[in-house]
Amino acid sequence: MVHFVGAGPGAADLITLRGAELLRHADVLIWAGSLVNPELLALAPAQCEVHDSARLTLEAVIALIERAEAAGKTTVRLHSGDTSLYGAIYEQAEALRVRGISFDVTPGVSSFSAAAAALGTEYTVPGVSQSLIITRAAGRTPVPEREALKSLAAHGASMALFLSAGLAEHVQRALLEGGAYTEDTPCAVVYKASWPEERVLHCSVKTLVSTLEEAGIQNSALILVGDFLEDAGERSRLYDPAFSTGYREASA
Ligand code: SAH
Repeated sequence: MVHFVGAGPGAADLITLRGAELLRHADVLIWAGSLVNPELLALAPAQCEVHDSARLTLEAVIALIERAEAAGKTTVRLHSGDTSLYGAIYEQAEALRVRGISFDVTPGVSSFSAAAAALGTEYTVPGVSQSLIITRAAGRTPVPEREALKSLAAHGASMALFLSAGLAEHVQRALLEGGAYTEDTPCAVVYKASWPEERVLHCSVKTLVSTLEEAGIQNSALILVGDFLEDAGERSRLYDPAFSTGYREASA
């Protein structure tokens, strides 16, 4: 049996209770060493066999899993953040299906959630934006043409850019070409959200490139864009006395 587990964004206590329990029973642990907190390895039993996937190909990962399966062992495949975003789960799941190896997936706290927590805010501010676009700039990994950053930027919605801190010039240009954000639209760079070395840098679309350059940040960071970063929202209907909900009659 293989358990894919989201490790959370960094802080070791942001893994889920279920994820931690699965780690405690792992015979084989394959972890994404570049972004997952090594403190989590301490949860695995002393005799657990540990492999850092940063050094492995997909084929090598699958070979380790096949070997573990043949020995009747339980494998935990630990990915950073949540398993549903930029984790290369898909190709592993396919390879396991083909081989008839059963697996399940335990989600984790994504870095985009930890970044909003670091900012003490939310992406969906009434009257400002009710949508979050999660995307990345095209780099060595291509992005489908219909999802080009320029076209996504035409919405002016809240945006979280993964894997793009090293592509700031491209990001800045595409954000402006979209036509909905301006040079003054607020941006934030959140580096290593929830880690002790977390940094939050506030800037604007205009100063995004210089901000990243001056901070020397190329990776392990999210670029957030949108007016949600400014305190310009309306109050929510959910807690408005004049608004009835399924649980509460309007009182004013
Ligand atoms: N599945 C992960 C994303 C993995 S892709 C998740 O849900 O968060 C790796 C990218 O995620 C990094 O390049 C960076 O853009 C972002 N990232 C991961 N952890 C981060 C953190 N703690 N703080 C900021 N960005 C992070």
